[in-house]
Amino acid sequence: MKKKRRFSFLKIYCGIMSPTQTNATLLAAQKLLQHLPEPLHHQLSDLLEQAEQGQDTTIEVIDLLSEQDNIRMWMDDQVSLSCSTKGYGRLGGNSTAIRASYLWVCPQNDCTYSLPVIQEGEDPPLCLQHNVEMVRGDSKEQS
Ligand SMILES: [Zn+2]
Repeated sequence: MKKKRRFSFLKIYCGIMSPTQTNATLLAAQKLLQHLPEPLHHQLSDLLEQAEQGQDTTIEVIDLLSEQDNIRMWMDDQVSLSCSTKGYGRLGGNSTAIRASYLWVCPQNDCTYSLPVIQEGEDPPLCLQHNVEMVRGDSKEQS
């Protein structure tokens, strides 16, 4: 069952996945986990558990999280940060950049923690570093 949308977004700018990108993907998925609604939460936590036991479930994680545009764009952002430190450029310009209004960000100015908005009207997630409710990205820009 690994054929579906293999490397769906990573290969756009990375070619193949390096261990760095695999780690970045799993790390981002772990951050996201607390904020995911069911049944995604359950499916993702299963995959992450398998990854912890040494199985390579990265592709499944990516496939699962690619279903939703906001999540996909947010993941793309998180992972590309670690790609660019290794000299990879983003090929698509900013065409895949997630708009601030689709992001939850931490109200602390020096905090870079962010999560995607999954559903309009959802409860704000907590910043795991500061334990405060996050705010929409566009409201932080205005202040
Ligand atoms: Zn924070």
